[in-house]
Amino acid sequence: MIPEPLDQARVESLKGVGPALAGKLARIGISNLQDVLFHLPLRYEDRTRITPIGAAQLGSTIVIEGQVVACEIAFGKRRSLLAYVQDNTGTIALRFYHFSKAQQNNLKNAPSIRCYGEVRRGAAGYEIYHPEYSTKLDMLEDRLTPIYPVTEGVTQQRYRTMVKQVLQLMSEGKVLRNLGSEHQLLSKVDINTAIDLVHNPSPETELSQLQEGIHPAQKRLAFEELLAHHLSMRLIRQEMLSLQGIALPMPASTYKQLITEFGFELTKAQLKVASEISLDMNKSVPMLRLLQGDVGSGKTVIAAMASVHASESQYQAAIMAPTEILAEQHFINFSNWLNPLGIETVWLSGKVKGKKREEHLGIIGSGNARVVIGTHALFQNDVVFKNLGLVIIDEQHRFGVHQRLALREKGEYNGVLPHQLVMTATPIPRTLTMSLYADMDCSVIDELPPGRSPITTSVLADNRREEVIDRIESACSSGAQAYWVCTLIDDSEVIQCQAAESTAEQLTSLLPEIEIGLIHGRMSANDKTKVMSEFKMGSIDLLVATTVIEVGVDVPNASLMVIENPERLGLAQLHQLRGRIGRGSTKSFCVLLYHPPLGELSKQRLNVMRESQDGFFIAEQDLQIRGPGELFGSRQSGVMQFKLADLLRDNHMLKDVRLLADDLLASDRTTAFAIMDRWLTMPEKLSQV
Ligand code: ADP
Ligand code: MG
Repeated sequence: MIPEPLDQARVESLKGVGPALAGKLARIGISNLQDVLFHLPLRYEDRTRITPIGAAQLGSTIVIEGQVVACEIAFGKRRSLLAYVQDNTGTIALRFYHFSKAQQNNLKNAPSIRCYGEVRRGAAGYEIYHPEYSTKLDMLEDRLTPIYPVTEGVTQQRYRTMVKQVLQLMSEGKVLRNLGSEHQLLSKVDINTAIDLVHNPSPETELSQLQEGIHPAQKRLAFEELLAHHLSMRLIRQEMLSLQGIALPMPASTYKQLITEFGFELTKAQLKVASEISLDMNKSVPMLRLLQGDVGSGKTVIAAMASVHASESQYQAAIMAPTEILAEQHFINFSNWLNPLGIETVWLSGKVKGKKREEHLGIIGSGNARVVIGTHALFQNDVVFKNLGLVIIDEQHRFGVHQRLALREKGEYNGVLPHQLVMTATPIPRTLTMSLYADMDCSVIDELPPGRSPITTSVLADNRREEVIDRIESACSSGAQAYWVCTLIDDSEVIQCQAAESTAEQLTSLLPEIEIGLIHGRMSANDKTKVMSEFKMGSIDLLVATTVIEVGVDVPNASLMVIENPERLGLAQLHQLRGRIGRGSTKSFCVLLYHPPLGELSKQRLNVMRESQDGFFIAEQDLQIRGPGELFGSRQSGVMQFKLADLLRDNHMLKDVRLLADDLLASDRTTAFAIMDRWLTMPEKLSQV
């Protein structure tokens, strides 16, 4: 009997998988048996051997076995149950903050116990907090234990049982197809061997190799995954090139007039990029261009020029910014530049409601509003443009390829697609650009406008906070303006905002002479606008802020910035934040006020900030020190998420990935699609190509 391909068998065919579980699995993109296998472990645990207690190392996660020699309640800050476990090499304490009377008795009376957990240092010496434990000594595994990224309602245990069943089917001959195996990197390891190994590693497998993702089986899979991503972007690109765009005549008089409105000479780099863009917009293929330019390099004027180009040919331009503050600021700038040219500019965000919204939607729909600026609210269903010719997305590092696709669909009218310009200040090392943005053309603004004075950055421990406050006071008293940025790693916006609020209160009472403002994400749009414009006008001297000011905010007179807890931010983010100062001609200072003690890596990273102001250099360094995941930051991870591949570690594969993609796209599209199907949750549009 010919084995049925695994991608044709649904998850319901597994034992223990009913409609409810299948529904939960579908939510994470798992619907057939092949999907089950390509949902890869995040990491591994070694529960195959017992570590002698005396050999337990701080920070390691181990199985131990011994006798419970004492069991008592400890009264510290919080009541806890402590059980001391001893073998013939030493003693270790188990600590439970949540425990029941029954559990206490059970532990006390257990002759011996086996448990699993991480070794930490506690009040009683080495301790394991809330270990998994069993008094029946049945916990040793004969394989390394994979830990899967799972979703609510699907436990590790459940998932492992499913994987085991599919691996069993594979061993009975229902195998995965080796795809693209003419290629050396894919033929070295059979796909079935590779998949079996990552799900079911034998105890001899080098755990550290697996954890780092450098086992040959993992390399084989990483290569295929990179290939899948690259193929999908290349296909998006091909599809774009086959679409109908709007060939706009080359820019004319209002465009030239606009340039005089700016009141400064464009830099060489700006002129070059502007002409690349107008040439693109002159073609009947929709533009899809990424504009990279370091913080402060002057991308906004480029956006204004492109908008005027569209408007001259009676088309509309939409500019989307990631935050209200930034959208508002663009609106003010654009109005100043475009109103004198007779171009109507309108503003739309989620906070524009009721009659006002109706009114704005009306002028957008009539086509009278030539330039429309806003947040993602621009792309809601009730926003209908008359003739959208250009979409500009500012600070795009927050949007991944899927969002790019979604936006593209929004802009489509009668089969004609608007031009798209995507701008980012997150410098992406060249080596990565081709992989991350294979679906786009790239332009770079590689020089700053003249007359910027460099920023002096110092790295200080927060026990020198008072000194810093004094410095701010004297600077502000003599006319300077400053930012005080409160950062917290805590994802909770509420807590972030509270921290900013209490810092503002504290600084206000310490510095009564200084006008202090506060801005954070939980304030109303009106309040934010009010504070920003007061800061811009100079009636606020010191602006206490959360990272809401991270992107785009432009107040040239501000020349000082204090960043609290900089060690908790990615370098790209710090660079963005710091880019808010050094925009005028006065000398600027940035103080990175860290909380000691600082680890070695953090020290290195803050030194990079002190030594350089070059976004590309900083990005390369961050990539070296921490890897791409951190470079893009967790919030920005929409950029590209891999199951196994790692753009830094697997960088050397990218050239071969591109070559093989060329081959497959030219001569074997069926295989190309089969590879994408394994690895990607496919955007529907793409599957029609
Ligand atoms: P970013 O690239 O970070 O978005 P902006 O567009 O906000 O930078 O520009 C930063 C500042 O530099 C703004 O105040 C802008 O008006 C100014 N600027 C832009 N281009 C030039 C130029 N060629 N000469 C002088 N100043 C410029
Ligand atoms: Mg900008």
